[in-house]
Amino acid sequence: MPLIVQKFGGTSVADSQKILGAARKAIRAARSGNQVVVVVSAMGKTTDHLISLANEITDHPNSREMDMLMSSGEQVTIALMAIALESLGYKAVSMTGAQIGIKTDNTHTKARIKSISTDSMRRALDAGKIVIAAGFQGISDDGDITTLGRGGSDTSAVALAAVLGADECEIYTDVDGVYTTDPRILPEARKVLQISYDEMLELASLGAGVMHSRSIEFAKKFGVTVHVRSSFSDGVGTLIVGMSESDAPVAGCAVAKNEARLTLVGVPDKPGNAMWLFSRIAEAKIATDMIVQNVGLEGRTDISFTVPATDSTATLDVLNLVLVEVGAERVEYQEKVAKVSVVGLGMEKQSGVAEKMFRAISEKGINISMITTSEIKISALVSLDDAAETLRAVHSTFELQKTPVKLNEPKNLPVQSINKIDLDVARISGMEDIIIESISLDRQQSQITLPAVPDKPGIAAWMFENIAAAGIIVDMIVQSCGRGGKAMISFTVPRSVLSKALSVVGNLTSEWGSAKPQHNSEIAILTVRGTGLRSHTGLAYRMFKTLADGNINVNVISTSERSISITVEDSSGERGLQLLKNEFLAEMM
Ligand code: ADP
Ligand code: ASP
Ligand code: MG
Repeated sequence: MPLIVQKFGGTSVADSQKILGAARKAIRAARSGNQVVVVVSAMGKTTDHLISLANEITDHPNSREMDMLMSSGEQVTIALMAIALESLGYKAVSMTGAQIGIKTDNTHTKARIKSISTDSMRRALDAGKIVIAAGFQGISDDGDITTLGRGGSDTSAVALAAVLGADECEIYTDVDGVYTTDPRILPEARKVLQISYDEMLELASLGAGVMHSRSIEFAKKFGVTVHVRSSFSDGVGTLIVGMSESDAPVAGCAVAKNEARLTLVGVPDKPGNAMWLFSRIAEAKIATDMIVQNVGLEGRTDISFTVPATDSTATLDVLNLVLVEVGAERVEYQEKVAKVSVVGLGMEKQSGVAEKMFRAISEKGINISMITTSEIKISALVSLDDAAETLRAVHSTFELQKTPVKLNEPKNLPVQSINKIDLDVARISGMEDIIIESISLDRQQSQITLPAVPDKPGIAAWMFENIAAAGIIVDMIVQSCGRGGKAMISFTVPRSVLSKALSVVGNLTSEWGSAKPQHNSEIAILTVRGTGLRSHTGLAYRMFKTLADGNINVNVISTSERSISITVEDSSGERGLQLLKNEFLAEMM
């Protein structure tokens, strides 16, 4: 019998009438011949309310007790949903995370799923009942209730769909699908018919709140077809599957408004210091993004990165500790910054995306204070006040409001990653563990660094347009505020075009009267590929640590959900590759 998982978010179960409405959707699916598992969130803004109650008492509530508190919200909804279904004449049973057997680690408030037992759900389904599962929660080995992180009911739903081998996982929410960007910020955003796992994962982790990013890790790993649709109407929504909607370079854009930027200034430039910093941050389970290490001056570098503002206090604590441990000069902290990102698988095959994005932003007179890129995304950090305008400019420059001329078939593809892993084993243990697909070495690259370019709108756009006009394709762009209010820009180019690129940027720096470009003609890029790499906070750290233990200095770092790349001296490339392969042997597919 076909099986379907339906998830209803907070607004979709905000009152008793909406719960009845959701129950009717479940009944319709059951009547069409499906076994049905319903996953629900807490009603309306219940979770926010519970958190604010705790915060009225203290700023630092105990995280175990927070989980006890927050998980109560979902427990109310499952009972009401079961009552609703029974009142409509259907057999139903509500189950908490513990009753189902959703085992997690014991990282309270950010727990990861280790395994899910299907026995109790199967028994109920086989007895003809609709199973109502509490989203967002699980149970640790110690028997404590855990929660999966804000928005985590999506992850519960897709994880259940994965273990049960569901035919589809429907995510019912207050929008009728996934849009090219948040339609509440840009009304001109367009609903997409389908979006690939990689694009959705990246967008979700860069601020598109419509899906919890970790749910997409499950979807990709286990090949679950996810259908995001409206709770309040019956139209078709958006399929999240193995394939992009079209070959357009950009599939969507996102803004993360609640970001903070932190810099550890004057770090002694020696192998191991960056590693030490990120190991401390990883221990605190904080996910960093936009990591930029400035070029060393007088033996010292600055390391900047962004974190969600909610993690900034914890991150500052860590930085103040590391400051002393590594003998850095000071910590700088900037709030009210926003990260605007464009994402698209098509970017891998088409150049020109970066300069187009920078141009669109600079034409609005908006300054970019930090840039990082990876194969399928480009992020720019701007001031919070400029966030919406930046998003609008970027959305419009890539014409995201228009339907692409040629659309791909709206269907899922066979998922490559699961062909190679033993699904049964994956289902029993380590469901959310990292899977590494490959580790590779690229020895065809050079790196150019402009240590002190004028820090004003349009510089990045101008520079990369000039480079593109010379037919040069750049990669791994990073830009950060350097010392004395100048910006540092660094990027990689193929070795074959290094001298051409140097002459282009040399002309620009003399025009600007700024310091001459530096370069490293032979660098190596080490790349680890997999799924959900950025949100697994420990992975970048393990890469740094492995290389540092081998006395290899790490240079530029680029992170995304599906790859982390690090540039090192060419002479260390082969050895670095071997070290990484040994380190990640157990996680390799
Ligand atoms: P739920 O409570 O159902 O989980 P959420 O509030 O978590 O709902 O997610 C739905 C919201 O996500 C929408 O109301 C919308 O404002 C926001 N959103 C952000 N980015 C996007 C996007 N790209 N497409 C659709 N909605 C988005
Ligand atoms: N109720 C939880 C939250 O508000 C989980 C969820 O809604 O997905 O974060
Ligand atoms: Mg949500």
